[in-house]
Amino acid sequence: MRIIDYREAAAIAPAFSDHEQVSLIQDEETGLQALIAIHNTKLGPAVGGCRMYPYQSLEEALHDVLRLSKGMTYKSAVAGLPMGGGKAVIIGDPHAEKTPELLEKMGEFVNAHDGRYVTAEDSGMSVADLKVMRRKTKFVLGVSDDQEYGGDPSPLTALGIFVGIESAVKHKLNQANLQGIKVALQGAGSVGFHLTKQLIAAGATVYACDINEANSQRVASIGANIVPTQDIFSLEVDVFCPCAMGGVLNDETISVLKAPIVAGGANNQLEFPHHADALQNAGILYAPDYVINAGGIIEICRQLKDEPSALAHSKISEIAKTLTNIFSLSDSTGQTTSKVADGLAEQRFAQTDDKSQAA
Ligand code: NAD
Repeated sequence: MRIIDYREAAAIAPAFSDHEQVSLIQDEETGLQALIAIHNTKLGPAVGGCRMYPYQSLEEALHDVLRLSKGMTYKSAVAGLPMGGGKAVIIGDPHAEKTPELLEKMGEFVNAHDGRYVTAEDSGMSVADLKVMRRKTKFVLGVSDDQEYGGDPSPLTALGIFVGIESAVKHKLNQANLQGIKVALQGAGSVGFHLTKQLIAAGATVYACDINEANSQRVASIGANIVPTQDIFSLEVDVFCPCAMGGVLNDETISVLKAPIVAGGANNQLEFPHHADALQNAGILYAPDYVINAGGIIEICRQLKDEPSALAHSKISEIAKTLTNIFSLSDSTGQTTSKVADGLAEQRFAQTDDKSQAA
């Protein structure tokens, strides 16, 4: 196993020069090629999922892991969790290239970081995969047997998005519940499926699309209306809810959006930071992605601290309050909701800096 300090490569991208550690593993025996990025550990160990994706190049994977790990720092900080931000990515097709040997090697790679990085589920990785990694490291979360879904955080991510949509609807449309609210859901995977269940139970109508036929059929079977993937942005709905991949809010899509609210679970929804301004200028209320999708990391933190499982639900309901506060601050200052959220996160790091200087 060869682990390479990859921080220098990361520093090529100036927006990411503040990462504490970036490492690369290239293991010929198992074919594992993976990166771990630790963005910030001021508030605690760097916690974030491990993604497996068929990246076209090492550069593409590096860019993703840097962006995602930085997002985790901000996500945990705004949610008030004693954790920093990190992420891991495995380069490969999760349907064709995942073997127990490769996952065990990944476990060794995580372990080599001595607990500064703690991993969990992300796209392309299941609870079962993490259990294989756990054979080689104890720094794995999202495998808790006391939880209804075997530790999988996605149902609780969905719960956070659900309460977040409620708070956005209240703020923008002045409606206290989701009865009759129309939601366009892009991506009916783990999060999208659980969210659809909750939305339909609350009286909302869900229009969903997915590039995966089986996942489309699964949400159709619980009452979602399936629409073609290319139509999802321009539907006449109240809420556009991105739950697939990042970068979906861009010049092209924002120009056709009709929904007055964007509130969904995907990470890194804005293609570039200035797209937050574009949404604001179009009169669209944007629930910052890392605030509304924090339900899963709140659950992961509960597992880390070995707290009772019921506690996650009450903490997740606070996402609604945090968002309402962000929306109000955005209204009163004129700043975008993203800028307000970043400010709240950065205040938390600054407090830590003050404390460590005083000590
Ligand atoms: P998933 O892989 O189970 O689901 C994603 C779904 O999106 C898949 O069904 C996929 O086929 C579909 N998809 C991909 N591209 C699409 C496109 N262009 N149009 C329509 N559908 C498309 O992943 P997930 O766990 O449900 O996570 C969804 C998003 O939420 C990801 O961005 C993830 O990073 C983010 N997120 C997940 C969690 C969690 O707890 N799982 C927590 C925070 C954030």
